[in-house]
Amino acid sequence: MSRRFAGKAAIVTGAAGGIGRATALRLASEGAQVFAVDLKEADLAETATMAYGSSFTTMLADVADRTAPERIVAAAMQAFGRLDFLINNAGIGGRGGSVTDTGDDGWDRIIDINLSAVFRMSRAALPHLPRPGGKIVHISSVFGMVGFPEGPGYAASKAGVAQLTRQMTADFGAQGININAIAPGVIDTPMTHRAINEDAWYQEAMIKNTPMGVGQPDDIAGVAAFLCSEDARYIAGQVIPVDGGWLGTRYWPRD
Ligand code: NAP
Repeated sequence: MSRRFAGKAAIVTGAAGGIGRATALRLASEGAQVFAVDLKEADLAETATMAYGSSFTTMLADVADRTAPERIVAAAMQAFGRLDFLINNAGIGGRGGSVTDTGDDGWDRIIDINLSAVFRMSRAALPHLPRPGGKIVHISSVFGMVGFPEGPGYAASKAGVAQLTRQMTADFGAQGININAIAPGVIDTPMTHRAINEDAWYQEAMIKNTPMGVGQPDDIAGVAAFLCSEDARYIAGQVIPVDGGWLGTRYWPRD
């Protein structure tokens, strides 16, 4: 593995499992100092164990707590003395009904975690990011790009993240900060594992018509690392589907 991120420091939210864990470990393996944030103590500690040999610090925090983003960034700055990359990955899923099935509390919760926390984490991190060279990677979703049944809060939160990516680039791109998003398709993580293996409707609607089948967290982590690299220096304000061909096709295999 290259050491292209030696001397750089990153915050990764939602790093206790799935895509966040894979991304934190990927950045660390390429030399970055990583400040890993999550709610889940044991699983976050396990991520740190897996990063053995790297400069890896953890913090328990709920990113949806309004005071948390400033505290997270301050703690990362104290730990590493610099901040180069912010990976806004923490999020919750939200299927189970349409707009008429969605209560205010459920709506507010998913917007708080999946969208408002992304805004606040970005606001807290931006003053510290180097110009040029700072990188922000948001994790959006294919469900923020097309209409799909159920989960209006999830869809709206992820579409909001996609548009925040473009808007923030209009404000900060000229300063040399790359802000992009990844829109994963079906990735096998603790969030989706049950649906992938047990939900016949999800298998039919999502997996069967993904030409390349189910993806793995490393498929997203590799793209996140690329977006943090200087090879992606001229990519800005993009929402990049990493979905095995789900969005770009109307794939329906003949049995
Ligand atoms: P995951 O396995 O559930 O990992 C997400 C991590 O974030 C979990 O450890 C989760 O803890 C944590 N988290 C949730 N809310 C938090 C909060 N308020 N503060 C701090 N940490 C919090 O999910 P994943 O599949 O890796 O998802 C990562 C991101 O990718 C999410 O934004 C998700 O929407 C997006 N995404 C995933 C897929 C997919 O197919 N997996 C597809 C498109 C987009 P808890 O488990 O306690 O909630």
